[in-house]
Amino acid sequence: MYEFGSGRYMTPKRRFLASLYGGRVDRPAVGSATSVATVELMDEMDASFPEAHLDPKVMARLASGAYEVFNMDNLMPVYSVTQEAAALGCQVNWGSSRDEMPEVRSRICTSIDEDVPVPDDFLAKPSIKVVLDAIRLLKKEYGHHVSITGKALGPWSLALSAYGVEEVLIATIDKPDRLARVLKDLKEVTIMFGRAQIEAGADSLCVPDHLTADLCRPEAYADYLLPIHFELQQQLDCPLILHICGYSLDRLQYIRQSGMACFHYDTKVSAKDAREAAGEEISLMGGVNNPSTLLFGSPDAVAKEVYEALEAGIEIIGPECAVPLRTPNENLKAIASAVDEYMAGKNG
Ligand SMILES: [Zn+2]
Repeated sequence: MYEFGSGRYMTPKRRFLASLYGGRVDRPAVGSATSVATVELMDEMDASFPEAHLDPKVMARLASGAYEVFNMDNLMPVYSVTQEAAALGCQVNWGSSRDEMPEVRSRICTSIDEDVPVPDDFLAKPSIKVVLDAIRLLKKEYGHHVSITGKALGPWSLALSAYGVEEVLIATIDKPDRLARVLKDLKEVTIMFGRAQIEAGADSLCVPDHLTADLCRPEAYADYLLPIHFELQQQLDCPLILHICGYSLDRLQYIRQSGMACFHYDTKVSAKDAREAAGEEISLMGGVNNPSTLLFGSPDAVAKEVYEALEAGIEIIGPECAVPLRTPNENLKAIASAVDEYMAGKNG
């Protein structure tokens, strides 16, 4: 409980949700739409990979560390991008140790001309049910106080899992109409899984849809995904956070038109440039570099990037993407501390 006159009055949940829409807050929010699981956090929470991908109790316990240990305003329990792929029939290697990320081993379709067979019992598949059960557990324990973010892959990322990167990229040149049809169909998977997570207790959803600059020109976002993303945010009744890794300045002009509440951006774009390009239409999340600053930098180096992001007006401060598993916890704790210090300096 905050004291009257302390300048703080919002629960982490209200702060996070208000920030997603660029609203009034008592302090800029701290959080992430992607995984903040580290090996150190697994020790601290007694919840490790690979169980944290497969057992709802372990999944939820590890997720709660974002609030309990890192003082973040939201929890997000999905640590990889393989849950849907496994349910659709891809072979997934969940890893055998704590510092191994799961990976898709086999594709479902060899040609873009094949339809992805979506099983009738998709929501009951173990890799999907575990997410829904973990969200239910988090909702029960934290839902009155901390924001719970689910994750449902967008159709582009689902297509990459189902067909493989090469087949999708060739289709952008050879069979654009067929690819558009595939994405339209896969969008239904995003909606189905997203709705189930909202029903389970998620109050926002991360939608990773990796149409990245190293694979595609910005117009591909406008052509293939903009209308679909616009529809997703109409069909899914909670704020959506779009996540695309890599350089995004060239596509932000389109992303801002999607109606998504927030874009989780990569620091390949500076906070200032991202904020300018995003305009009034969309909030931004991120600001702290993963591979050098969080993984190898000091808490002071983290604080410096946090201040830059705050100065630029980034609404939710956090890592730019799933954090490297060997990131030291003290660097992740430094994000919320730096926001507090910045605010104290401003008010003092
Ligand atoms: Zn990413």
